[in-house]
Amino acid sequence: MKPIYLDNNATAAVAPEVTEAMLPYLQEFYGNPSSMHTFGGQLHRKVEVARAQVAALIGAEPGEIIFTSCGSESDNTALMSAAETFSGKRHIITTRVEHPAVLNFAKHLARKGYRVTYIPVDSQGRLDMDSFYKSLDDNVAVVSIMHANNETGVIFPIEEIGATLRERGILFHTDAVQTVGKIPINVKEMPLDMLSLSGHKLHAPKGIGALYVRKGTRFYPYLIGGHQEQGRRAGTENVPSIIAIGKACELALANISQEAGHVAKLRDKLEKALLAKCEDTRINGDTVNRLPNTTNISFEYVEGEAILLRIDRHGICASSGSACTSGALEPSHVLRAMGVPYTAIHGSIRFSLSRYNTEAEIDKVIELMPPIIKELRSLSPFGRGKSVACSIPHSAE
Ligand code: PLP
Repeated sequence: MKPIYLDNNATAAVAPEVTEAMLPYLQEFYGNPSSMHTFGGQLHRKVEVARAQVAALIGAEPGEIIFTSCGSESDNTALMSAAETFSGKRHIITTRVEHPAVLNFAKHLARKGYRVTYIPVDSQGRLDMDSFYKSLDDNVAVVSIMHANNETGVIFPIEEIGATLRERGILFHTDAVQTVGKIPINVKEMPLDMLSLSGHKLHAPKGIGALYVRKGTRFYPYLIGGHQEQGRRAGTENVPSIIAIGKACELALANISQEAGHVAKLRDKLEKALLAKCEDTRINGDTVNRLPNTTNISFEYVEGEAILLRIDRHGICASSGSACTSGALEPSHVLRAMGVPYTAIHGSIRFSLSRYNTEAEIDKVIELMPPIIKELRSLSPFGRGKSVACSIPHSAE
């Protein structure tokens, strides 16, 4: 059974054009781009073409792109570099709703004596800008605020944030893992210094990412060793995956507006129908400033995991909370930060679409889900009126 794959914020299918582009580099062209001989050395040029393709998608110069192994490495590198290059400054500012690649690295720095401020969000998942302004001081090494949230799709006002930081000379990193390839990005017009992206969210394979570092930004490498990436990231280049992310970025750039329109139309249809057909549902997050492909819906008084298991029988793939936390049944830190009631957090499902979804698939989900929800509610110990309708307090961060 072909899955109805609505979990693209967790990972997305590799585009056939991308597989085709990378295959020769897994087969006949296996050389090392740093080699002196032509067989290996010719790959250096191919890596540079891919670098230019990634740069073009975000409006950067090729020399501003460093290839990494994933979005997490890009995030870690940005924070670590800031800590190394502004070693006199001991304050890090981030948000309560970042991906663990930023949150846990900030916690790591906190254990090393840094003060970390976690900016809160409101009930719609929007950043509390007053808290952001109040948090600024002369001791800030870096501000790391995501471009869009992976669970709700809510987009943060990084232009406004960046403009303030630039005025004050404070380094700004954004985790754009969920936005690159989904919405247009032009770093030339965005006041930021570093930006993280990841291949497997934009139809390249897992295990390849990139970090944009604006020319002139102080930088210290995270992986230390050989001279690869102009000494900014050691390790023999992952040529097939670099070719792949280059191709994926080229495809994204060519189709971005048309694809955003396609996924938004399907997402809106799904959302509207589920809200109309299922009682006690709510959308988690701002519906104005959000990614075109994401909706996070709470089906109150049902367990999200029970929903996932039932829809899985029909080949429907979605996520409760983010994929990275769903292995453990911890309530989502993002929905907790938004003050979503306990009953709604536990019944929350994230649907995230891609260019490969069709209207027929969405119609199937709209047909199958309402009776499943109804049945699960009739069995649920958390049924309406039986629940503890309280918010879980924010975790001590
Ligand atoms: N940042 C965000 C917002 C993400 O959604 C993810 C992955 O889910 C990451 C970082 C980590 O990316 P990767 O899986 O490539 O390490």
